[in-house]
Amino acid sequence: MPDTPLAPGSTIGILGGGQLGRMLAMAAARLGLKTHIYCPDTDCTAAQVADAATFAGYEDEDALAAFAAAVDVVTYEFENVPMATATLLAQDVPVRPGAKALGVSQDRLTEKNFLRGLGIDTAPFADVANLQDLEQAIATIGCPAILKTRRLGYDGKGQARINAPGDAQAAWNAVASQPSILEGFVDFEAEISVIVARATDGTVAAYDPARNAHANHILSVSAVPSGFAASVEARARALAEQVVAELDYVGVMGVEMFVRPGSNDLVVNEFAPRVHNSGHWTIEACVISQFEQHMRAVAGWPLGSPHRHSDAEMTNLIGDDVNDWHRLAAIPGNGLHLYGKGDARPGRKMGHVTRLSPRR
Ligand code: AMP
Repeated sequence: MPDTPLAPGSTIGILGGGQLGRMLAMAAARLGLKTHIYCPDTDCTAAQVADAATFAGYEDEDALAAFAAAVDVVTYEFENVPMATATLLAQDVPVRPGAKALGVSQDRLTEKNFLRGLGIDTAPFADVANLQDLEQAIATIGCPAILKTRRLGYDGKGQARINAPGDAQAAWNAVASQPSILEGFVDFEAEISVIVARATDGTVAAYDPARNAHANHILSVSAVPSGFAASVEARARALAEQVVAELDYVGVMGVEMFVRPGSNDLVVNEFAPRVHNSGHWTIEACVISQFEQHMRAVAGWPLGSPHRHSDAEMTNLIGDDVNDWHRLAAIPGNGLHLYGKGDARPGRKMGHVTRLSPRR
């Protein structure tokens, strides 16, 4: 693939139409780059702010061919883009990040084996294809443990907690007998994540690690600085940089890790081959946000500095939280983001708010 940077005025195609696509499109606009959203949902939030949109299924080969012809590069805002879709598009136009990152991150078993192959610590895990495997895995790994479907799980979906061996059948039913992995429970002090970018020339830039808190399996708050020792933060950054280098990655990735109590070592939970909710604070706290960084990387541009000029705390507005928009808007200094979604269903990410404070 030629690595010539795309000139301003070029068009970046984005598969997926959620809030991540929306914020990517807004960041592209700052650089004079156009965006074209491809999404099955005519009511998608990203298309509201993009230059063009195609509303079609990910299996619609005619629509994909027309999309490929209309854009200069393709990226995606969710990791479950069907591999066949990415492969088809890649015949006509560069797809960044590439197929390797997509393939590895779509399957928890492949992802864990990939990480272990790099010498990176993960939770203990075992491949579970049937109930018998699960019972065997519980005997080996012990309890508590978490059964997770290999594919298509997010925000706690496709997961079942196992507290005792007798929970095996119920957990297997809960994941609908899908191919899964059993993961030993990691006793962690906190979850941190690193947003890292890699350019077409191999340059890498990692943002400061964020400390993340969840509620009901959904990210609630991300805070920087993480509060962990510089050595822990340096290790977190190094792990994220190792993962993108190994995948010959182009774009932004979010890498989630657990910090064990009293330990400097980190356990990698998973990585997402896309911009990440725990990096939204970069919009206000850095000159170059994760969204602009991703647009720069996939367009073959130089990366911007990931330097953080302020401390920040990002809080998601989930479901009804968004009804508080007027009060939040009235607080001076709040960076309020509303995603333009219609229906504030429980668990739906409707917006977020970022508060800055002077860097400590
Ligand atoms: P995941 O879908 O893998 O991102 O998991 C969602 C959340 O569940 C994580 O952010 C953790 O808070 C928790 N979790 C997942 N896997 C483990 C594990 N092996 N041990 C402890 N907590 C976990």
